[in-house]
Amino acid sequence: MSVDILDGRETASKIRARLRAARESLGDRPVNLYSIEVGENPAAEVYLRNQKRAARDVGIELIERRLPATADTGAILEVVHALNEDPDATGIIVQRPLPLGVEARDVQGAIDPHKDVEGMTPMNMGSVLYREPRLAPCTASAAIYMIQRSGVDFEGAEAVVVGHSEIVGKPIAMFLLHRLSTVTVCHIGTRNLKHHTRRADILVVAVGKPKLVTGDMIKPGAVVIDIGINSTKDGLVGDVDYASALEVAGAITPVPGGVGPITVAMLMRNTLRATGLEI
Ligand code: NAP
Repeated sequence: MSVDILDGRETASKIRARLRAARESLGDRPVNLYSIEVGENPAAEVYLRNQKRAARDVGIELIERRLPATADTGAILEVVHALNEDPDATGIIVQRPLPLGVEARDVQGAIDPHKDVEGMTPMNMGSVLYREPRLAPCTASAAIYMIQRSGVDFEGAEAVVVGHSEIVGKPIAMFLLHRLSTVTVCHIGTRNLKHHTRRADILVVAVGKPKLVTGDMIKPGAVVIDIGINSTKDGLVGDVDYASALEVAGAITPVPGGVGPITVAMLMRNTLRATGLEI
């Protein structure tokens, strides 16, 4: 069976070209994405570098506000509140991980929802229940984008989402539900993961465990969206055992180079949306 590799790098580059054209329509008006970083973390630096590259490509200014690793919730909130009030700030992103003792939810929840380009505030998250908000969680939007790209019909499809985190698994499940897929959500309490994944026409895995899903757990011809990013001795891998999945899947996102670049493109799209652009 031939498998369609859903190449995120190529797709993201096409999305960015569209975003660049939209950004140009704003002329000289500044579009500034403020990035709050606390301390230094090698994985976060990689993500930040990708964001900077994408921002430059689209014509968005990414401006860093770096705080020391010792910064507490109060100090971070001070920066968030100042940026909320600053008309120069189009969008705000708080890079993770945050230091021990700082709850990401407390900090992200304080961002002005209209500048919340990661779609993490209670207002934007809550709107996910109704339909996609203008500023939707980026990885969830990216996963849906890639499923759409595969050409599969959402309506009536059996969709299985493995992982139910607030920022990834849950919004993806809601977005699939909005599109009339029949959605099953698996998590740590799921008794027989394979029983569910084997039935999936659309399988989304967002857990953070290498090789959690192997080829024998995949329905032949399924669309497999691997969101996991795991650093192993063999380099970066997803949650799906890529080699065995290739033998059965109809379409699959690689790791790296799958959902990741699309997530960053969605962040740029949200930043342009935060200017009021319909895009
Ligand atoms: P998370 O908050 O740790 O959530 C992981 C989820 O997986 C939880 O809901 C957990 O359930 C569930 N889980 C744990 N073990 C499981 C098992 N054996 N079977 C089924 N479900 C299990 O992580 P996250 O933020 O959602 O991220 C998930 C992965 O995606 C990570 O590898 C992360 O690096 C990656 N990620 C990638 C992108 C991207 O752009 N590509 C963006 C964000 C995240 P319980 O809560 O019940 O334990």
